[in-house]
Amino acid sequence: MKTLLDILKDVRSKKHALGHFNISDSSQLRGIAQVAQELQVPVLIGVSEGERAFIGIKQIAALVAAYRSEGLDIFLNADHTKTIDGVQAALDAGFDEVLFDGSQLSYEENVKATQEVVRRARATGRPVLVEGELGYIGTSSTLLDDIPEGAGLERTSAEQAHAFVQATGVDMLAPSVGNIHGMLKDQPDPRLDVARVAEIAAVTRAHLVLHGASGNSAEDIAGCIRAGVSVVHINTEIRNAYRKGIEAGLAESKEVAPAKYIQKGIDALKVVVLEKMKLYTK
Ligand SMILES: [Zn+2]
Repeated sequence: MKTLLDILKDVRSKKHALGHFNISDSSQLRGIAQVAQELQVPVLIGVSEGERAFIGIKQIAALVAAYRSEGLDIFLNADHTKTIDGVQAALDAGFDEVLFDGSQLSYEENVKATQEVVRRARATGRPVLVEGELGYIGTSSTLLDDIPEGAGLERTSAEQAHAFVQATGVDMLAPSVGNIHGMLKDQPDPRLDVARVAEIAAVTRAHLVLHGASGNSAEDIAGCIRAGVSVVHINTEIRNAYRKGIEAGLAESKEVAPAKYIQKGIDALKVVVLEKMKLYTK
């Protein structure tokens, strides 16, 4: 069985990216896993602290393990973990990756806490990867009227990225490169800074992760992948599709069997996941 690091090296050598999709229930997971199985591509599942609390930390680990036992290269990330206790719980549950999000801490505090996360991940003796975050890009996974205050204002420089990776020993890095969490409601998200991605990729050994890619154009996302991004995160777009699908399912009949109306949500989510995965592996 390949490790997550094997997969990252593999996608990078092909100038592809690994799709990271957030879920909060088993139906969303099912839809994403089905697309990955159909396309025969690996996939990374993310659960934020809120999403983890909803589905259950042991429960999501068991579900992902079940898909893995069927031969799928599927991995689990503890997305945006803000406390050391949260990190430890994910490590104990068998997650493949932990993202420690110290983007709202001072640089020094972020380095110190991320170092501790790396120490704990290595102490598991398992090939758990650690992602660090540098630069505030907002915290929302919803449709936004405006860009959240302060989000994306300070872009991560190549020098900062290099120093942070050296100081912390992280395997993966989430920089601020014009991306924002969530997506704007009635207009495209601001352009991504492909040149900045290339500058950062040139000076760091860490795999770069593009967060908040919902609402960004295919052209910008593809540009970032060519420039050195290994993982692309999508949450809001699949949440939106899932909800709309379920709404349509509820509107068209008085059906009470969840398997019927939730399937409409899964079908709608799968359309988005398929489009993204095709873009990442072009
Ligand atoms: Zn994120």
